[in-house]
Amino acid sequence: MTFSELGLSPKVLAAVEASGYTEPTPIQAQSIPHVLARRDVLGIAQTGTGKTASFTLPMLTLLESGRARARMPRTLILEPTRELAAQVEESFAKYGQNHKLSMALLIGGVSFGDQDAKLTRGVDVLIATPGRLLDHHERGRLLLNGIEILVIDEADRMLDMGFIPDIERICKLIPPSRQTLFFSATMPPEITRLTEQFLRNPERVEVGRPATAAVTVTQLLVAASDDPSEKRDALRRAVRDADAFKNAIVFCNRKRDVAVVYKSLQRHGFKVAALHGDLDQRARMAALDSFKTGEVDLLVASDVAARGLDIPAVSHVINYDVPHHAEDYVHRIGRTGRAGLTGVAITLVAPSDAKNLQAIERLTDVPIAWQGEPLDPGAAAERPRAAGRGRAGARRREAAPSEDRAAPPPREAAKPAPRRRRARPEAAPADEPVMAAAVEPRKAAEPAPVARTRRPEPERRSQSTASDDRVVGLGDHVPAFLLRPTRLARA
Ligand code: AMP
Repeated sequence: MTFSELGLSPKVLAAVEASGYTEPTPIQAQSIPHVLARRDVLGIAQTGTGKTASFTLPMLTLLESGRARARMPRTLILEPTRELAAQVEESFAKYGQNHKLSMALLIGGVSFGDQDAKLTRGVDVLIATPGRLLDHHERGRLLLNGIEILVIDEADRMLDMGFIPDIERICKLIPPSRQTLFFSATMPPEITRLTEQFLRNPERVEVGRPATAAVTVTQLLVAASDDPSEKRDALRRAVRDADAFKNAIVFCNRKRDVAVVYKSLQRHGFKVAALHGDLDQRARMAALDSFKTGEVDLLVASDVAARGLDIPAVSHVINYDVPHHAEDYVHRIGRTGRAGLTGVAITLVAPSDAKNLQAIERLTDVPIAWQGEPLDPGAAAERPRAAGRGRAGARRREAAPSEDRAAPPPREAAKPAPRRRRARPEAAPADEPVMAAAVEPRKAAEPAPVARTRRPEPERRSQSTASDDRVVGLGDHVPAFLLRPTRLARA
């Protein structure tokens, strides 16, 4: 199958060619013809599958006829986080390089004024997080009755973050004659209900997990201590000793630890930036940019901030903590080994992590090899041992025997594998000048600035992974109805 068989316009095909794509991914091959035929689409796919282009490319083709009117966008794409919204904007810019379409990004943490000016001029493509979109609408600055195509992306993530009531409101504000493209990685009952309510006879397109992470990511475990200082030391060693290191995203379970680990790495002379939900939008974008451009080579991040991000050419993912939820592990390691490149995922495992590690291995159905001494030689006896850095894909059940044969006998294997030391910064005193600190994370307890206090934007998350900081009251999980403005009767 080639792109030219899908019915895309010549301008879009030229942009695809310029991107270097030779063949559509399965989700693209299956969805694009339906989108072009103006059908509703229910796409079950996650990031890394080429999902973004599966709706951007046909939308660009469809937008070639018609014109934008002031305050009445022609298409709307809803994303759960600011970063994902910005990423979709980049995709439109890339694939729409031969079009003269106007775009606006409505996300929290950015001035209303600039966004409003763009809306006034008229936009073809509006990309938004639900909260900020509703804020503009409630101010009367935005009309949604000209929307021809509505895209709801990462719907299960929207559910996680408490956005479903907002999505329902938005769907009701858009004329039912619209075309709806709906994407979700999973289909819990709440999401199924939403699709039944808002999609019209959709074409269902389903693709499996992106194969790239499974076959191109080498997964390794490194024994660590529960003592924070020793654990940070283990992290520094993991970075310094990493083979073929170019850059790494370091994941922490808690926002508080993102700040601590960031500061510690910075003090030790590493070029590092931090990304978590309590940073304001500018700081988040600056952190991401500094990592993408190579100004820093370490990005310490929380799951919420980094999930779904498409940063090409990340050589390593380092889990400073074993995630509490096994699915988060899959998402984290999927940040490396993208677009056909290889990657390494190193997970520091402290004694208190045993249960979480078991859950990951149950989910992925793959025992992960230790690099160096296993945490507990007794418990680890069953695992493939360290010397071979088996690829994750090769460690699938079927492939296990050949890998076992390749592994050295247990006593040998338990020895730390010889490591090629890399010229990484050595431990630095606290007062040593920082090499290229990117962004100072704000204190974890400090809330992200929001344009209006009414609606916390948008890093709401279910209790599941946000076990980090002490939660006060409802924390970030305030039901949408409590956030609506109320008028008090005069006494
Ligand atoms: P997504 O699932 O939209 O986050 O896309 C994942 C990555 O795949 C992005 O870096 C895209 O640039 C890349 N990509 C999308 N479509 C193709 C394609 N047909 N061939 C190669 N890479 C692609």
